[in-house]
Amino acid sequence: MGEAARSRCSEVRKQLPDYLNGAVDLETAQLLRWHFSRCKNCRLIVRSAINTFREHFREKPAGNSAAKAHAA
Ligand SMILES: [Zn+2]
Repeated sequence: MGEAARSRCSEVRKQLPDYLNGAVDLETAQLLRWHFSRCKNCRLIVRSAINTFREHFREKPAGNSAAKAHAA
């Protein structure tokens, strides 16, 4: 809506990596979530960031079912 909300966005985006890492304190996490609930733009950004993050973490040996099927 106003300028205040807009300036928050840049702050939120700065803290996004830390938020995804769980490196922010509880208060900050709540502030960010509050912002996401009101700001569609940041919500979209955080969603795609989380998807990227998940894919990044998917590189686990446990998810290697294709190789298992091949071995069997
Ligand atoms: Zn925002």
